[in-house]
Amino acid sequence: MATTKRIVRLEEDVVNRIAAGEVIQRPANAIKEMFENALDAGASSISVVVKSGGLKMLQIQDDGHGINRKDMDIVCERFTTSKLTKFEDLTTIATHGFRGEALASISHVAHLSIISRTKDSPCAYKAHYRDGKLTPPKPGKPSDPKPCAGNQGTQITVEDLFFNVPTRRRALKSPSDELNRIMDIMSRYAVHNSGVGVSLKKHGETSPLLRTTPGATTRDNIAAIYGSKVANELLEIEDADEELAFKVRGFITNANYSVKKPTLLLFINHRAVHSTNIRKALDSVYAAYLPRHTHCFAYISLEIKPEHVDVNVHPTKKEVHFLHEEDIVERLQQLVSKRLVGGNMSRTFQTQM
Ligand code: ADP
Ligand code: MG
Repeated sequence: MATTKRIVRLEEDVVNRIAAGEVIQRPANAIKEMFENALDAGASSISVVVKSGGLKMLQIQDDGHGINRKDMDIVCERFTTSKLTKFEDLTTIATHGFRGEALASISHVAHLSIISRTKDSPCAYKAHYRDGKLTPPKPGKPSDPKPCAGNQGTQITVEDLFFNVPTRRRALKSPSDELNRIMDIMSRYAVHNSGVGVSLKKHGETSPLLRTTPGATTRDNIAAIYGSKVANELLEIEDADEELAFKVRGFITNANYSVKKPTLLLFINHRAVHSTNIRKALDSVYAAYLPRHTHCFAYISLEIKPEHVDVNVHPTKKEVHFLHEEDIVERLQQLVSKRLVGGNMSRTFQTQM
């Protein structure tokens, strides 16, 4: 029989590393968090460079408002944020982030460095972080943020993700799979944020894997990322309801387009999320139009009163639920259904002319 072991309190850094591994499970999560930070900072251009699917290095550069020199000491501590001060703010929060956990988590499971410059600062500052705190770039050197050259905005470099979590590191063995996940999340955000130029490159390569320009429309971005075959068959959708307190806009493919693999770019209050209910609802409408076992492409942005969605969910909890979900999903179904009929009628009409 096993003997009873004494209960011991875990060391703080062990606790932090475990918690960090829950927030940041793979390179794509780190990218999503940092991408949202860049958007929160008002960036109009966001470029990402990755080495080895982000496992060796991922670097994200934005032209947003930057981080104050004075905040660079605490920016990577847990629960430090510029976006929330009281619990009540959660109900009206308009930024992606609010819990101040992302950078802290990354700094517990990787080597993290930041170069940032605000509009009023005469230069940029660079600092290195470990376990939430400033750390010297090399042993024996001072760890203060150091003045350096740089444009307004922020560049964050994450190296050797999970170097200190060997089990996690081993579980992520395919850099190409990790790269695909990074492409997927960045593609979604690039489509949703027309007005922001986005690029993704592999380190050392000149041609980007993904690229949108700040002046491009949502339709242009869908064409640039998902191809003109999809983009040529898009129908725009838009609807709102005061009683249910929601707004929806997006693009769906018409009945002439079908693919084996479904693509649903779903945003709720500007966060990329998953909803099995919405996916199933779309499939059931399209089932009347598309060949069996094929699907549509859809980009849907739902805006719901913040107090009707629980935003205080865990960062990795992608599946969301919200108030009046059934009614809203039904409205969405009706909208898509109506649009598909209308869209195809106008097409037949055009070809007959
Ligand atoms: P949160 O986004 O929840 O506030 P994070 O750990 O993601 O927490 O970021 C902590 C803080 O660091 C943010 O509140 C913000 O003030 C600052 N920050 C992070 N990334 C950027 C960025 N790219 N540009 C400007 N400020 C940033
Ligand atoms: Mg954040």
